[in-house]
Amino acid sequence: MIITIKEGITSTQYDSLLERIKDKGLEPNIDRGALKVVIGLRGDTKGIETTYFMVDGVESVTRVSKRYKLVSREFHPSSSVIDVSGVKIGGDYFAVTAGPCSVESEELLFAAAKAVMDSGALLLRGGAFKPRTSPYDFQGLGEKGLELLVNAREKFGLPVVTEIMGIEQIELFKKYNVDMYQVGARNMQNFNLLKELGSIGKPVLLKRGLSGTIDEWLSCAEYIVANGNPDVVLCERGIRTFETAYRNVLDLNAVAFVKGVSHLPIIVDPSHGTGVLSLIGPMSLASVAAGADGLTIEVHPDRKKALSDANQQLSPEEFDMLMRRILKLRDIVE
Ligand code: PEP
Ligand code: MN
Repeated sequence: MIITIKEGITSTQYDSLLERIKDKGLEPNIDRGALKVVIGLRGDTKGIETTYFMVDGVESVTRVSKRYKLVSREFHPSSSVIDVSGVKIGGDYFAVTAGPCSVESEELLFAAAKAVMDSGALLLRGGAFKPRTSPYDFQGLGEKGLELLVNAREKFGLPVVTEIMGIEQIELFKKYNVDMYQVGARNMQNFNLLKELGSIGKPVLLKRGLSGTIDEWLSCAEYIVANGNPDVVLCERGIRTFETAYRNVLDLNAVAFVKGVSHLPIIVDPSHGTGVLSLIGPMSLASVAAGADGLTIEVHPDRKKALSDANQQLSPEEFDMLMRRILKLRDIVE
C-alpha cells in the first residue's frame, strides 16, 4: 500500500499517521521526492482497508498493482542510488564496470585493472567462478581468483564485482569482502540464493535471465529486497530469440521500460548482450541514450589467449576509445 502525503501536512497529522501505520504492525518506507512525500508500507496489508489511512494530511492511499512491490516505482517514486564501496550507481550517478570475462592470472588481471581504471571505469569486474555451458571448458580459478581480485583492488583502488554461483560460496565471498555480488543470467531464478543474498550486507548485480521476462526479473529483485537487502542493481545482458546472427538480442526496450516501473538502477552488458566485438561500441552508446545508469564491459589485455569469451573482449585501446565516447555522450544525455 502507498500513501501520498499532502503538501501542507502538519507535524501532528504526520505523527498520528505514523502511529496508525505502526499500530497495524507495518513499517513505513518514506520517500521524500522532489515533488511529493510518499510512504510505502512494508508488511501484510491484505486485511486493511485503504480508507484506514485516509486521514487528515493524506492525499491518497492506493494498493500496489504489481506482483513486485518494494522494487516498484509506485512504492518508491524517486530513483535509488546504490553505493558500491564508495562508487554510486543510479539517479545522477553513472558507473562503468570493466575487466576480463574470467580472472586468469595476476599479470593479466592487473594489466586489465590498470587499463580500465586509466580509461575511467569505476569498478573492476572478473569471474572467479564461471558458469560454462560445457563442463570441459575453463571453470574459473575459484578462491584463487577472489584472492587475485582483492589484490587488484588493493593495488588499484577499484571495488570488485564478481559472480556468485551458489549459496555455499557466500562464506568465501565474505572472507574476501567482495564489494558487489553478481548473480549471473543462469542463476536469475535461483530463489534460494536470492533469499540468502538478502542478508549479505553488500550490493547485488542481478543479471537478466536468458529467457527471463521483465516481470520475472523484477520479481527476482524483489526476493533480495524483501529478504532485507535494498541494494540491488539490475543488468540487462541480452535475451534469447529466434535471431542467430549474434549471441543474444540486447533488449534496450528493457532499460527505458524498467526505469518507468522500478526505482532500481539498471546497467547494460553489451559484451554478452551482443557477443560480437563490432557491436559493443554502438550498443554501449545506445544503452547510454536509452538511460542506462552504467555499463559492464569485458576487457582483456590479450584476448586471443583468453580462456573464456575470447570473441567479445575489447582490447584496452578499444575500451579507452569507447570510454571517451561513452562519457561524452553521457554528458549530453544527462
Ligand atoms: C559474466 O558477466 O561473466 C557472465 C557470465 O554473464 P551472464 O551471466 O550474463 O551470461
Ligand atoms: Mn564473459
